[in-house]
Amino acid sequence: MSGSWKKTACILCECNCGLEVQLGGEGNRHFTRIRGDKAHPASKGYACEKPHRLDYYQNGPDRITSPLRRTSDGTFEEIDWGTAIREVAERLSAIKDEHGGSTIFYYGGGGQGNHLPAAYSAATRRALGSRYRSSALAQEKTGEFWVSGRLMGQVTRGDFEHCEVGLFIGKNPWQSHGIPRARVTLREMAKDPKRALVVIDPRKTETAELADIHLQVKPGTDAWLLAALGGVLVQEDLVDHAFIEEHVDGAEDPIAALRGIPVAEYCQTAGVPEELVREAARRIGKAESVAVFEDLGIQMNRFSTLNSYLNKLLWVLTGNFAKKGGQYVPSVLVSVAGNLEKLGAGGEAKRSPVANEPIISGLTPCNSIPAEILSDHSKRYRAMIVESGNPAHSLADSARMREALEALDTLVVIDIAMTETARLADYVLPAATQYEKAEATFFNFEFPHNYFHVRQPLFEAPEGPLPEAEIHARLCEALGAYTDEDLAPLHAAAAQGRPAFIPVFFAKVLSNPKLAPMAPVILYRTLGPHLPPGMQSAAVVWGLAHQFAAKFSESLRRAGFEGPSMVQAEKLFDAILDSPSGVVFSVDDYDEGWKRVMTPNGRFQASNPELLQELATLVDAQPGTGQSEFPFVLSAGERRSFTANTIFRAPEWRKKDPEGSLRISPDDASELGVQSGDYVRLSTRRGSVEVPVEVSAMMQPGHVSLPNGLGVDATGPEGRSVRAGVAPNELTSLEDRDSFAGTPWHKHVPARIEAIA
Ligand code: SF4
Repeated sequence: MSGSWKKTACILCECNCGLEVQLGGEGNRHFTRIRGDKAHPASKGYACEKPHRLDYYQNGPDRITSPLRRTSDGTFEEIDWGTAIREVAERLSAIKDEHGGSTIFYYGGGGQGNHLPAAYSAATRRALGSRYRSSALAQEKTGEFWVSGRLMGQVTRGDFEHCEVGLFIGKNPWQSHGIPRARVTLREMAKDPKRALVVIDPRKTETAELADIHLQVKPGTDAWLLAALGGVLVQEDLVDHAFIEEHVDGAEDPIAALRGIPVAEYCQTAGVPEELVREAARRIGKAESVAVFEDLGIQMNRFSTLNSYLNKLLWVLTGNFAKKGGQYVPSVLVSVAGNLEKLGAGGEAKRSPVANEPIISGLTPCNSIPAEILSDHSKRYRAMIVESGNPAHSLADSARMREALEALDTLVVIDIAMTETARLADYVLPAATQYEKAEATFFNFEFPHNYFHVRQPLFEAPEGPLPEAEIHARLCEALGAYTDEDLAPLHAAAAQGRPAFIPVFFAKVLSNPKLAPMAPVILYRTLGPHLPPGMQSAAVVWGLAHQFAAKFSESLRRAGFEGPSMVQAEKLFDAILDSPSGVVFSVDDYDEGWKRVMTPNGRFQASNPELLQELATLVDAQPGTGQSEFPFVLSAGERRSFTANTIFRAPEWRKKDPEGSLRISPDDASELGVQSGDYVRLSTRRGSVEVPVEVSAMMQPGHVSLPNGLGVDATGPEGRSVRAGVAPNELTSLEDRDSFAGTPWHKHVPARIEAIA
């Protein structure tokens, strides 16, 4: 009803801040007012400027309202759901029968706020025998996951609320957030004289402006700077010997390497005054607590996996783990990093079938996907399901990615709008938006209090689109993964209530090897109809609550959920359903972290021979682009006030700078003879575009940046296709990637700029 406030959450970054919204407009299908939800356990009323324009998502252009099938002339025709599901199941089954299920590749499974489809898609993948998948995480985080897996079999986060020193590396939380109430937390840190905010970033960002120490590194030289920081810690004996003795194996190897770092030379390479680097290292080494956040600035850059290792050495060697204000391991309902335990036990990553690239956290490197398809190898990926993802736009070298997608035997896209990837599909299956079904995020990383938020639907889906849970259930049924007879006892038990349902589900599904992989969709079909109206898609959360209770019973008890773990799980699920602002499901002690280190002996394993070898190469490596015809470093995909990922498809959503200007330093602008608003030609090895410039003191000479999320094709008011801004991946190359994790170097694209008359 218009005028009343309803609870939901923002879906534009991993924070998923709680929101209150009012609905109105035509058919009561628009957001009319939006504000932060004070009752949300993490965001507590905080919201940045971006969600105020969420209506451009909910009512964006090119919504798909019917299943579509590609015709022989390349256009699409509408088909009914029965035909779509039957034909998709038949085509994928035929590929499975002839070439094996492992040739069916899955990409996506959620953006910043719709992660329940990923849980349901697991059933479809299992029904098809599909073994390989990927997502945007493999563009960004797998290098860090690999390092963390080797180090401790886990990933960590930093306690910025309580730290004495907050260190952000290649991250501008003022714009990219990533920590709850980012701007409030940054201001608090900056104004407290007892605390210090340290920022490593080539740009003078909003966060760097607030910093006590800004190490304004030359683009692409973070590895030299991080090595110099570690070098100072070791050479000035600022390491925590007691902590190392008690908790760390193999520290002597990195310590020996860091002792040999020529600090002055590396500071010069990084373009940062040596005294400032020493000041930062001393501040880190002497602090009671240090929280660290590394992000895409170093994770999509040269030496990205080495950068992650050097970063982790900073807080490991100074003992900043499992204490207030340090690094922690959150208890999570679902681990987005997958199971890193095997790496902690010295195991190796699996390899992709064609390019033999490392599969970290279960994810094929995004830059290898075209090579996995465009091959005559018998194990090549022949079919692909893309769900809530847009690889044709979002992955490196869009031209090559399009070629690969077009070469597939079958491409099935599940999405709400006609994306760049959907345009290439054989079948497009329309999904409900994130506000038309129960939905949730798995990005729950808080500590010591962690929360989970299932959002209740705000709108009915229009006729045509279905929630992903329903799409996957129908696909699994068409694939013959289970029968009505299989479900009959579960339906009967669910009708009697959850106490009756639990034993039947455990006995009939989890102990049945045929049905156990189908658990998510079976829960949706059997338990889902008995959940409150609109909440059927939340059925899989019941299973997640039981998994969590079995593993983290103590954390649940501290959060107020008493009883045996089965009882705790039921209470937790009830609380999730009854808490429209989200619920605190876990309360931890700081030293809980040690129980979560998943190495065989529970100690950090600090030696990483491969990365120490790469560290040794820095002494001879060249900074800069190394290409005289491309002297600039382009950072492709900067977060700004009015950028998000491509779920905003209407160009009008951007209040300012609709074309997404190329930021350039005043010195470079002057040399090129251009001013803000002038157009330049920006060229890389892969492509060339014309783009307006914004002369910005944020940038240093030789460094330019383009925003993320631009360059999508949308249908404008007169039915014509409009594209605003540059699609960054028309300029990036597949070869520019990390040698360990395969993560792309989007923040280090060699480029040339020419003024246009
Ligand atoms: S910080 Fe992120 S989740 Fe919160 S309101 Fe801003 S964009 Fe949305």
